[in-house]
Amino acid sequence: MPGRLIQTDEHRRKVLRALLWITVCGGSFFSVFNLLHDNWLLAGLEIAYASVSLFMLTIINTTPRLPLWTTIYLLPFFSIMMVGLAQTHTIFAIFAWIQTIPIICYMLLGLRLGMCGSLLFVGIGLYVFTWRFSSESLLHNLEIVTNLGLASLTVMIFAHIYERSRLINEQRLTEKATTDALTGLPNRLKLAEVFERERAQALRNGTPLALVFLDIDHFKQINDRFGHEGGDRALQHFAEVLQQRLRQSDLLCRLGGEEFAVLLPGSTPTDALEVAESLRERLASTSLEIDGKPLQMTLSAGLAHFGEDGLILSSLMLAADKRTYAAKRAGRNRVIARDESPEIEVRHQA
Ligand code: GH3
Ligand code: MG
Ligand code: MG
Repeated sequence: MPGRLIQTDEHRRKVLRALLWITVCGGSFFSVFNLLHDNWLLAGLEIAYASVSLFMLTIINTTPRLPLWTTIYLLPFFSIMMVGLAQTHTIFAIFAWIQTIPIICYMLLGLRLGMCGSLLFVGIGLYVFTWRFSSESLLHNLEIVTNLGLASLTVMIFAHIYERSRLINEQRLTEKATTDALTGLPNRLKLAEVFERERAQALRNGTPLALVFLDIDHFKQINDRFGHEGGDRALQHFAEVLQQRLRQSDLLCRLGGEEFAVLLPGSTPTDALEVAESLRERLASTSLEIDGKPLQMTLSAGLAHFGEDGLILSSLMLAADKRTYAAKRAGRNRVIARDESPEIEVRHQA
């Protein structure tokens, strides 16, 4: 299994880790100041929060519940910040922290929640600021709020643009990493990802799941006859022909070279054999023309079934691969469904 394809969690884990260290150091440092100013409430909150952050640092690298811990961290973080802003004896400079709200929200919560969190807490911060520092002069008040509001809005817009393009780039890279460049089909990495999802579904609901391994027959001869480019064209043709026969929920992917696999969620052994047979027939009956010369391809296939052949992808691949090579030995252009009774299970074109 290639590990996680989407890296957002790892990215957020790093940001949260950095913030936790800042909270531990900043909380301890400012609690001393607040104690010296007899601000027991804020000092107590800061010490308690620094201790919670210290504890979170021990689990944050491994926890699978990152969104939950992020919420547990952020709600008190912003609440303490608001309490600090609202205290009449805290200094003016504490309002500089408002500028950090959009960046923290977007980096830890993503686009939608980041925007909501930013608007909510920056809004509260601005309200508290107006309440604490408003004067008789309306113009003066407007000037202060516009300055602070615009500066926060600027940071928020930058954070929004940054997070959006980061997300788009991540999706683009993931798409590239999971697609075969020649045929446009999903690759082995994608198969592993989809298999994990379908496996969980099969275990939960007891639904069948089948894997078909496909290998083009005598592909080396196609390369020899039509050249490498002709071989590439043949691989594309193979992908197009097979894709047309499959359902939306089936996954046809290129494993590498002239080897492919189809994952068939919800297919019983009988269904899977039927699908594999029709793929074989369809390929054998569709011809392709390369440089004016006709090309007819055939495939050999082996089936494997979730449960009886194993519960993990590598076991199913091993079983299906073994049967494909049995099909090769038996003369090619055929499908083998099981190891036993090959004379019954082997189907081939007369
Ligand atoms: P068999 O019927 O036993 O499967 O024989 P085969 O010739 O298909 O199998 P073999 O594994 O001996 O050869 C596969 C060939 O596929 C060898 C390799 O040069 C070619 N090949 C692998 N990847 C590509 C590719 O991306 N493009 C082209 N054109 N050829 C490829
Ligand atoms: Mg081959
Ligand atoms: Mg091969």
